[in-house]
Amino acid sequence: MSTVPLPDNEAQRQAALQTYHILDTATEKDFDDLAELASAICQTPIALIGFVDDRRHWFKARKGTELTQSDKEISFCAHAIADPQEIMVVEDAAADPRFAQNPVVKGFNLAFYAGVPLVNKEGFALGTLCVFDQQARSLTAEQEAALKILGRQVMDKLELRRKIMELETANQHIKELNRHLEANKTEMQAIGEETAVINEELRTSNEEILSINENLSALNEEVTAINNELKEAYQHQEQLNDELTKNEQQLQAALEQTSLAKQAAQLGMFDLDVVNNQLTWDDRCKELFGVSAGKQVTYTNDFVDGLHPDDKGKTLQAVADAYNKALTGGRYDVEYRTVGTDDRKIRWVRAIGQVLFNEREEPQRFIGTVINISNEVEARNKLQESEAALQAANEEMAVTNEELQSTVEELDAARQQSNEAREMLDQAISSARIGTWHIDPGTGELTSSNRLKEIFGYYPDEQMPYDAAINHITDEYREVVNSAVNEALSKGESYDLEYPVTGHHDKKMRWVRTTGRLFKGEDGSKDFLSGIVLDITEQKQDEQRKNDFIGMVSHELKTPLTSMNGYIQMLLMKAKRNEDMPTANILDKANKQVAKMTTMINGFLNVTRLESGKIYIDRKVFDMAELVKETEEEFMATVSSHKVVFASVAETCVDADRDKIGQVINNFISNAVKYSPPESAIQVACVTRDGMAYVSVQDEGGGIAPEDQERLFERYYRVKGEHTKSIAGFGIGLYLSSEIIQRHQGQIGVKSEPGKGSTFWFTLPITVKA
Ligand code: ADP
Repeated sequence: MSTVPLPDNEAQRQAALQTYHILDTATEKDFDDLAELASAICQTPIALIGFVDDRRHWFKARKGTELTQSDKEISFCAHAIADPQEIMVVEDAAADPRFAQNPVVKGFNLAFYAGVPLVNKEGFALGTLCVFDQQARSLTAEQEAALKILGRQVMDKLELRRKIMELETANQHIKELNRHLEANKTEMQAIGEETAVINEELRTSNEEILSINENLSALNEEVTAINNELKEAYQHQEQLNDELTKNEQQLQAALEQTSLAKQAAQLGMFDLDVVNNQLTWDDRCKELFGVSAGKQVTYTNDFVDGLHPDDKGKTLQAVADAYNKALTGGRYDVEYRTVGTDDRKIRWVRAIGQVLFNEREEPQRFIGTVINISNEVEARNKLQESEAALQAANEEMAVTNEELQSTVEELDAARQQSNEAREMLDQAISSARIGTWHIDPGTGELTSSNRLKEIFGYYPDEQMPYDAAINHITDEYREVVNSAVNEALSKGESYDLEYPVTGHHDKKMRWVRTTGRLFKGEDGSKDFLSGIVLDITEQKQDEQRKNDFIGMVSHELKTPLTSMNGYIQMLLMKAKRNEDMPTANILDKANKQVAKMTTMINGFLNVTRLESGKIYIDRKVFDMAELVKETEEEFMATVSSHKVVFASVAETCVDADRDKIGQVINNFISNAVKYSPPESAIQVACVTRDGMAYVSVQDEGGGIAPEDQERLFERYYRVKGEHTKSIAGFGIGLYLSSEIIQRHQGQIGVKSEPGKGSTFWFTLPITVKA
């Protein structure tokens, strides 16, 4: 740490010292003399005149030392200038704590110091005039006073020196000015000459200016006119400005509306910096690509990868086309699906955009909007589907129409044919004298033709209600007809009946044949029951006559046949007794033929009895097992051509005409023998089925065609064919069988397949044993 005390105003002191320009200057005799004088007066070997700057104590004059300067830190003078008004005296440096360790004291063996500060008019101590001695000692008062005077002399010298320096500088400046003046003088002269020339030029210019002035005034007028125009233009401009302001306001409103519309339409915005491939989407656009709002998007990761695989090709092509200014002018309008990056949801969008190009037609920026059209696409798809369906329906309809057209034509033709047929039918009906009728099932009302009324003994213009008509049927048949009509109405079953009626007015008895059938109403028309009525009185009378004749003939034939049978029996017994076997054989054959003839004649008699209502059912309870047993014994004795097998029969009691039921079984077995090949098997059985006795005869014959099966039980019906030609018969056996079984509340039928044999069967109600 520095031990040197610094004056309070050190900075100003340093600045003042610099104004004397004394530091590092050459020695000057005046200063050397004054140092000499101080040494002499104070009787010291060393005397110095030095100045203290910021770091050193520099010596201007020195006596008794070769040093030119010393470090400020070890300088005595640096201490001395701290108090400018006082002389500093150090009588024995070794005894002074400030200097005892000072290297100068030791190095130069110094002990005594006295220094008077060199103070200028402003009071700054610039340096000192000082003396050193190697002996410790003191100064006399005279010496101290003399040293102070010498100090002031040094200061005067210093001031003088500065004055001289300033004067020299001023002198130098004046000389310089003089030189300048000299130079200016010559210049002024040249200027004077130039001024004369310029003056001349000015004069001519003045004239020019005058004429220019005139021009200017003309111009002025023009300018005024222009000014006015400008003023008007300005006013116009103001108006325009007003309008512009209005337009701007409107524009602002439109922009706000657009923004609102954008919001309402939920438009998404995209902006692609094509050059730097930087894509910007607003939140709505991100939403349409299923990207979360905060995410930073890229062209490849979010736009390209966000496209639905099926739409990627066309969309990227649309972008490529938009980049081609010549092709599209930069316009872009495409519909595609996006697959949500985050939510994987599929959305239909429409994107409309515009590419901005630079002067070389290179795409720079690509901006546009995206809107969700999922609903529209769905609606459009539905529309297309329904249009397609409509189209298909239309085509179908066209086909149907054509079909309908041809159907209508066919229908017309059919109607035509039907009309013709109806006319023919009407003709046939009228020529065949057939009556027709019609019943409305809803009201039960009967409509009948005139011919029908005539058959029932009514006049053509009379009404014939159903109840009245039914009352004209004889008591025996009335209920049969009534229930047949009701069955036809309720179950739709058709009927074909023959019955006698008594004429309304003429009371004449007529046999009629009536058919009836329920016709189902189509296309909304009602059901109706309809049929025909035929007067078969004559036919019936013919039949009656025929029956009477057959009955009479059969009856007349029966008596000689009985006698013949008797005689043959007698002859047969006689021949056997005489052991005349050839005669016995012939008589046996004659006996069989007579038996056949008897059966036939009995059949005819039965038919005539049946027809005239004279057949009589003699009921009594008997066991079917016994009847079958008797039949078996009978056939075993007479039939050897076939293997007739009788199954064992359990006791089965029925309440019936034993002879007539036996006749039916006989007829079945006789037919089986007649219509199946020799040696074939015939199975006879009687079992109980559903509470009924079920009798069946099964053969291995040629079988019967279905259409014949329906009619086998009609009177005189025989199957036409080679085999029936060679086999005798009249077609009355099954007819009689059927009539007998019906009168026993049983059923009769046949199961047969051509080539596979037939099974004839009948049923009878079982009863308890008496
Ligand atoms: P007929 O035998 O006297 O002609 P039926 O009334 O007994 O009269 O028989 C009617 C017809 O039924 C016969 O003509 C025959 O064509 C047919 N028929 C009856 N039984 C059989 C049978 N078992 N096999 C084949 N056809 C039969």
